[in-house]
Amino acid sequence: MTEPTLYVVATPIGNLGDMVPRAVETLQTVQLIAAEDTRHSAKLLEHFHIKTPLLAYHDHSDSKRTQYLIEKLRAGESIALISDAGTPLVSDPGYQLVAAAQAAGVRVVPIPGACALIAALAASGLASDRFSFEGFLPAKQVARQKRLAELVGNTGTTIFYEAPHRILESLQDVVAVFGAERPVVVARELTKTFETFLTGSAADVLAQVAADSNQQRGEIVLLVQGAPKPDAAALDSEATRIMALLAAELPPKKASALAENITGVKKKQLYQWYVDQK
Ligand code: SAM
Repeated sequence: MTEPTLYVVATPIGNLGDMVPRAVETLQTVQLIAAEDTRHSAKLLEHFHIKTPLLAYHDHSDSKRTQYLIEKLRAGESIALISDAGTPLVSDPGYQLVAAAQAAGVRVVPIPGACALIAALAASGLASDRFSFEGFLPAKQVARQKRLAELVGNTGTTIFYEAPHRILESLQDVVAVFGAERPVVVARELTKTFETFLTGSAADVLAQVAADSNQQRGEIVLLVQGAPKPDAAALDSEATRIMALLAAELPPKKASALAENITGVKKKQLYQWYVDQK
């Protein structure tokens, strides 16, 4: 008998061709599928001829439901967790169940597949070396602007999920808080017939979305390019002040080495600044 396992299974975000074979096989072989919305998932299962029983699970399910599933796992059954679309736990239910399974010593195995934020990032043209996912922005403007203001200095790409009826307002707030020039991408209807990427400055993308009501439909990922990294050439005044003070007492090489220790700014840069001043 294989070890009882909780499988966290990704399902497509629109295109059924993105269902990975391992997901189909897993859903066919487990004893039970815990799904966010059983009626929604029934259609997917039917398409792939999966006859495994379904049980509703969401993080608001009372803890009795979580306990029930943990008991089943403990009794030797394997369970697959799916959500309506994409990867469970990513703006979707599952965290409570996975945490409870971990705590109960149950093996948890991911079956990776579609995820809207990763698909959007992969084709956005924005930097992907560092990014943060911020889920959905608050629905109310004051809270939304406050949240955006907290993120304005992020130097990595920032990714949000957004509802179509709020995309216009959110873009207006991005312009207001991040500035009209900040590069933005709106990735819409990924993997589906009307897949669209709108790219440009925040003001530009806002204008494109405002001008075409189709762009305010469907499923949307909003990506914002990171804030420019502090210009390496532009030394802040505190660093130059310290360099000047030290250089007044010490040879410039020694002064720049000490100033680097104090300010974190590279000694070469500080030395060059000092030489340029003379
Ligand atoms: N768990 C899912 C995932 O892995 O991407 C996300 C679930 S979340 C409840 C739903 C949101 O994800 C949508 O409102 C939209 O922002 C984004 N999304 C899901 N599918 C999408 C698609 N095909 N194209 C663009 N965005 C999508």
